[in-house]
Amino acid sequence: MINWDRVNQEVRDLLIDLIKIDTTNPPGNELEAVKYLQKVFESESIDTTIYESAPGRGNLVARLPGNGKRRPLVLMSHLDVVTANSAQWSHPPFAAEIADGYIWGRGAIDMKGMLAMEVFSLILLKRRGLTPDREIILVAAADEEAGSEQGVEWLLKQNIPGLAAAEYIINEGGEGKIDDGIPVYACQNGEKGVLWVKMKVHGSPGHASMPSKDNAIIRMAVLLNRIGRYKPELSLSETTRNFLLEMAKAKGLRLMKDSKNLDYSLQMFANRHYGKERSVQAMLYNTISPTIIRAGEKTNVLPEVCEAILDCRLTPGETPEGFLNKIKAVVNDSTVEWEVLQTAESTESPINTELFSIIQKTVQTINPKAVTVPYLSPGATDSRYFRKQGITAYGFFPIILLEGELQRMHGINERISLENLEQGTRILYETVKEVSKV
Ligand SMILES: [Zn+2]
Repeated sequence: MINWDRVNQEVRDLLIDLIKIDTTNPPGNELEAVKYLQKVFESESIDTTIYESAPGRGNLVARLPGNGKRRPLVLMSHLDVVTANSAQWSHPPFAAEIADGYIWGRGAIDMKGMLAMEVFSLILLKRRGLTPDREIILVAAADEEAGSEQGVEWLLKQNIPGLAAAEYIINEGGEGKIDDGIPVYACQNGEKGVLWVKMKVHGSPGHASMPSKDNAIIRMAVLLNRIGRYKPELSLSETTRNFLLEMAKAKGLRLMKDSKNLDYSLQMFANRHYGKERSVQAMLYNTISPTIIRAGEKTNVLPEVCEAILDCRLTPGETPEGFLNKIKAVVNDSTVEWEVLQTAESTESPINTELFSIIQKTVQTINPKAVTVPYLSPGATDSRYFRKQGITAYGFFPIILLEGELQRMHGINERISLENLEQGTRILYETVKEVSKV
């Protein structure tokens, strides 16, 4: 039997130590955290390897060998955190103080809190002394917050044993919340794709005291206005359909699953219940956000050129090329020059898997009122690298965040409640144990 009071204290101590190691990226300096974790694992006789992608940029791989009956499970995490301006915090961001039932500090949610849960899932299984049906590999990577070049992207080129053969990945990307009084755990099985594109228009240069009809800024304003008024059509992926169906069921509503107008009913349901929730609305459509505009240098000089950059996020089923053509049709001006800056295809893992059922069952055992739903996230995580290789990857951070808590992530006063840390560790441990048949 596990003495959970003692384990909770151990997890707490581990998280406090991890927060105190400043891994703000840049520069990252994850090696210090990696060396600390290596000692923790050594004291439990768990094998580790350090992979240094650049001086100071440490990645750690720890493993619990299995009997090979099933393919490996990877517990994924990142060690780096985003910057914190301590002047704005009510508890210093790298002091990991406990107050009001929370551990406060940068990385408490994103994602040293989950890393602590993963570390203890491995340690607790090791302490049982039994051999799991599959190898369990913990990967604590560098550089996630700055694009993963020194982290997962680099790690995947190192041919780390077991990684490419993995059946499942559990990573960050899905947190729980309270919806109409129901605790809802999101299991993020999909991520939207990305299209970053620059549009450029020209105008006649000259002295601003003598206006020209083709002022580049005014031309761009007209075009951006077309984009602003454009209403993208509904674009439901399997993940979004299932998410909405599950939520309707949890709220006691009946939607006809085989109805011809299913998508329409789902849209109505989403508008009624999640009209103001931007994260849910973002699941339903391809989106366009103009984020940068540049033109002109002097007050009295007509600009020769005006550029705007659009950040577009694409639902599964839409390609960057296909969506670019749609934007071009909306803008409807053949003189615009287009430049694609970056693209990424959306990714989606199936939910009819053993792991998904185990997650649902475990959540319900530990938190009987709760439901677990699939989730398409508007932003991207490292999971996309694995999904592209055909590995089922879920973003599943088993905590329930109250209103306003998620904004603290990447914001000020980031913190995790002790209750979440304790319950999350249990849920993750039981899930890993169950799916590894220990
Ligand atoms: Zn993160």
